[in-house]
Amino acid sequence: MAWLVGYPREKITWHPTIDREKCLKCGMCMNCGMNVYDWTEDGPVVARPNQCIVGCNTCANLCMGEAISFPDIKPIREIYKREHIWAKVKKQLEEEGKLKPK
Ligand code: SF4
Ligand code: SF4
Repeated sequence: MAWLVGYPREKITWHPTIDREKCLKCGMCMNCGMNVYDWTEDGPVVARPNQCIVGCNTCANLCMGEAISFPDIKPIREIYKREHIWAKVKKQLEEEGKLKPK
């Protein structure tokens, strides 16, 4: 995954949690392009948590019931710092030519 450049996804706790009492079953979270959620008779469930993009929280921002929450980002930023992930991402982007000015 480009955001992690080889760091194991399963070592990072970042995925949505749904508060069932707040969920209005609006369906908005089913727009997630990473196929994280399944729809059930009770509304959405977080079926594939590790497919969630680390750092993304779009579904929470647009959830009608404000029912979706995420963990604190700070420990994840600590991992990025400790594992030099920012530098690795930049190197990969340079190799892919994505940091060349247009
Ligand atoms: S976006 Fe929020 S309120 Fe809507 S179905 Fe998903 S969890 Fe429920
Ligand atoms: S945060 Fe982003 S990737 Fe993760 S479940 Fe929500 S919309 Fe999908």
